Amino acid sequence: MIISKKKMIIRLLVAVITLIGIEVFFYSAYAKIPIKINNENYITKEKTVGDALRKVGFKPETGNLLSHDGEIVLNGLGEEPTIYLDGSRVKESSLISRGSRIEMVQGRNLREVIKERTLEITPRTIIEGSGPFVVVKRPGSPGEIREYYLEDSGLIVKKEIVSKPKPTILKRGKINPKRMVALTFDDGPLLPYTKQIVDILKSYDVPATFFVVGTQVQKYPATIKYMKDQGFDIENHSLTHSRLDDKDQAVVENEIQVSHDLILAKTGESPRWFRPPFGRLNGLLGEAVTRRGYSIALWSVDPMDWQAESVDSIIQTMMLQVRPGAIVLLHDGGGNRQVTVAALPKIIEHLRSAGYSIVTLDQLYKYR
Ligand SMILES: [Zn+2]
Repeated sequence: MIISKKKMIIRLLVAVITLIGIEVFFYSAYAKIPIKINNENYITKEKTVGDALRKVGFKPETGNLLSHDGEIVLNGLGEEPTIYLDGSRVKESSLISRGSRIEMVQGRNLREVIKERTLEITPRTIIEGSGPFVVVKRPGSPGEIREYYLEDSGLIVKKEIVSKPKPTILKRGKINPKRMVALTFDDGPLLPYTKQIVDILKSYDVPATFFVVGTQVQKYPATIKYMKDQGFDIENHSLTHSRLDDKDQAVVENEIQVSHDLILAKTGESPRWFRPPFGRLNGLLGEAVTRRGYSIALWSVDPMDWQAESVDSIIQTMMLQVRPGAIVLLHDGGGNRQVTVAALPKIIEHLRSAGYSIVTLDQLYKYR
């Protein structure tokens, strides 16, 4: 095969140009260039101001923050270092070129009145299981965090965890396998509904538990006495029915204790069951009621009687959800409860014809 002279020349030219290209590339990539750092001459092959400085042993450093008495030293919270490239302030990542002049001033220490305080970290709550009864499986413990702050501005400059909090573990469970249910009525007493409900329950000879609200107990002392005389359980549903899983210890303790004392004063008996408002429970609340000797009951059947428009919708929802060991949530207070009152005879009849016996919370809890 004959390669023409013309083609040979073109190939040679391409080879030479490629070689020159590679040379230029490596020269520009690894070329050493002269620069000045703080008025001293250096030769460097680095590309950025920061790399060039580090290469010759000038590491840009931030100053420290010191308290006036020098007792507290917070590393790296002082002034930032300042770097100039050809007279203008630049960042470490700025690119240098042949003849660049770099000046650097290290970050200075700052002095302030620094205060420190130690705060508590609230433990998380882990809720296991799904049954209607709740027990504290493992109490939690708070952690500690130390904060450093500037006295005048209050600015927090540093936080460090001293100890981690240990989460509270609450366990939901204890489902009675027998064909039993418990009826519970919340948010009362409230007339005329509470008395109507008591009378219907009595006429069917059915037990029930009333989770009363302390402020309502104050309003209806005679009704509480009537409920008690008819043999019903009167239990604690807090003082004001506000959400307690986002409140601090003092509020939580007060909500439990004041309501407890009111019930005890009116009935002569200490309540033993606690149901948190809205069913909202956290470790702090769970531990507080448990410490006072309470057991905690939520519910497993919620026919939404407080917003139901018909008796039938209450019955339908209840019969769909009911299982052996169920706790049914109903309301004698908190609003107009005519529909609940009207539904109650049918609630009892439907449960009984489905083979359920209606028992107290204690019986449901015991026979498991
Ligand atoms: Zn309630």
